[in-house]
Amino acid sequence: MKIVFATNNRHKLEEVRTVLGPGYELLTPQEVGVTEDIPEEQNTLEGNASQKSHYLYEKTGENCFADDTGLEVEALNGAPGVYSARYAGEEKNSAANMALLLENLKGVTNRNARFRTVISLILDGKEYIFEGEIRGHIVEESHGTGGFGYDPIFVPEGYTKTFAEMTPQEKNSMSHRGRAVEKLARFFRER
Ligand code: IMP
Repeated sequence: MKIVFATNNRHKLEEVRTVLGPGYELLTPQEVGVTEDIPEEQNTLEGNASQKSHYLYEKTGENCFADDTGLEVEALNGAPGVYSARYAGEEKNSAANMALLLENLKGVTNRNARFRTVISLILDGKEYIFEGEIRGHIVEESHGTGGFGYDPIFVPEGYTKTFAEMTPQEKNSMSHRGRAVEKLARFFRER
């Protein structure tokens, strides 16, 4: 099955390809001729995922899906949330984002957080929404070199190592995006 995934992020593409497994030809927007940035101007994860999938579908007419993810920190009332990528500024710098988050959590004992992913799929013109989350906490300083984004400072519930200290397989098996994509894969299998 051919399907377009609204990302040009290689890490994400590989994660999703692994979870979906064989049988799916995952294409990037560039591979179907969409080279401009896909707009994501909404103030919720659901809104952004939906805006991106609709944009791609209108441009290409291909079955497609888009995801949007945020790290929601309890003590910060859900921030950085939908603004996770540009928490420390428009340049979307992960090191700066993590530094700002650690700064804002200095002295804070409640370090509970969760990653949440929302996927909007458009299949034959109809929209379907899938969601995945993983709860955990934010550590005091970064550990590990794997993954991307906030991985070095997030430890999932029941573990002592950060996402950045795990193998991609280990992270995928429990991650927010892994869980959302697993729901997407199940939806495809059951059709
Ligand atoms: P996106 O919607 O998937 O692009 O995610 C928005 C931002 O959330 C990214 O720029 C990262 O900072 C962060 N993020 C998303 N997924 C992950 C993840 O799996 N690990 C760590 N950070 C992530």
